[in-house]
Amino acid sequence: MLIRQVWLRSGELVDVRIRDGSIESVGADLRPVRGEDVINAAGHTIIPGLHDHHLHLAASAAAERSTRVGPADVTDAADFAYTLATASPSDDGWVRAVGYHESVAGPLDRDVLDRIEPSRPVRVQHRTGAMWFMNTAGLRRAGVSAHPSGRLFRSDHAVASALTGFAELRTVSDRLLGCGVTGVTEATPDLTDSGLRLLDDAVGRGDVRQRVHVLSDPLNREYPHLTFGPVKRIIDDDIDFAEFQEWVAQTHRKGRPVAVHCVTAFQLIVTVTVLQTVGALPGDRIEHAAVVPDDLLPSLADLGVVVVTQPIFIAERGDEYLAEVPAQEHPHLWRLAGFTRAGIDVACSTDAPFGGPDPWSCMRAARDRLTPSARVVNRDEAVDGATALTLFLGSPDAPARPRTVSVGAHADLCLIAATPEVLHRELSADLVSQTIVGGLVHQYRT
Ligand SMILES: [Zn+2]
Repeated sequence: MLIRQVWLRSGELVDVRIRDGSIESVGADLRPVRGEDVINAAGHTIIPGLHDHHLHLAASAAAERSTRVGPADVTDAADFAYTLATASPSDDGWVRAVGYHESVAGPLDRDVLDRIEPSRPVRVQHRTGAMWFMNTAGLRRAGVSAHPSGRLFRSDHAVASALTGFAELRTVSDRLLGCGVTGVTEATPDLTDSGLRLLDDAVGRGDVRQRVHVLSDPLNREYPHLTFGPVKRIIDDDIDFAEFQEWVAQTHRKGRPVAVHCVTAFQLIVTVTVLQTVGALPGDRIEHAAVVPDDLLPSLADLGVVVVTQPIFIAERGDEYLAEVPAQEHPHLWRLAGFTRAGIDVACSTDAPFGGPDPWSCMRAARDRLTPSARVVNRDEAVDGATALTLFLGSPDAPARPRTVSVGAHADLCLIAATPEVLHRELSADLVSQTIVGGLVHQYRT
């Protein structure tokens, strides 16, 4: 296939030839050979396909058929009850709701939910993804009817995989193709063999057309359609320090880097301390890094860890951060440019479905840092449009090292219906006209 007359981000006008899933040549005036498909891409810019460095495919699929009950979706307890009671169930009979936060209707448990919905099985996921609430019918359906509160913290993974729908993975993948996403890093921790097999099959069948890199232990088994990165671990503020340190050391001994979820400054301090003690491994990652005090920046740089962060949360929850986080800590919130200034490798992701799935809105948040009410969070941490895009161009195993449109690379590409200048100014999924994975055109918009 020959893509003709397309701009690189540098502004250079080139032709790009794809063969056997890779880029064979990039140059001025390549001649079509007989029988070759030709895309006349005049007026378009070509970029490597986006890679979302941290999201959750199965949870995104489940969210497809869920009712949204977050603070932006329902107004109060009465509205929450009405929304849930009138929600249509999915094919399997579950009433699923996502995005819940206590500001909507206070703490939830099985009794509260039973009063709203006494008969149909109900499952409400907390906005953080860390907790589910079920009514009695739901607990019965999930096989845990004796559960006292119906509050399933960080959910037993057995329950989680039994409840997760994979039928919508194709819809999730379509939406990502529409945004120019050709690869994703699945960041759900402790995936079981059955969870990994479901993902592997979904890629093998072509339901998921992106390349899928997994932050999990491959369990000494074969998953031909997946690649594996660092091993993800969530830590809480009541972490058992010694156990966590042993886990990091053991994971490193197996030759696997770690990816540690650090949302609070405390979690980051614990992780930095442990990595300083046992030594960092190339590829070790910090997920989120939502709050980073100044004095931790040099330590992160020394360790050589990669930070994978989500400025999209500024655009979605920025007003809550400004209200809830003490003013003196605002400069530590969702840093971005400051990582680069400190010599720390950084990349971005959406954390979908906990953040919205559109990486372009994350890029705009990285540049503009605007909350929903248009206040600015931490302007010093803003990056320019071209940099914001580059934060989604890393490779799965080197998130901070951007891929380029160059000979020998995978033909994972995205054609943008605009000049490079407009691309970097608009940062919009609306400009994505074609998404190509391994040389196959998967999405085409005229
Ligand atoms: Zn996540």
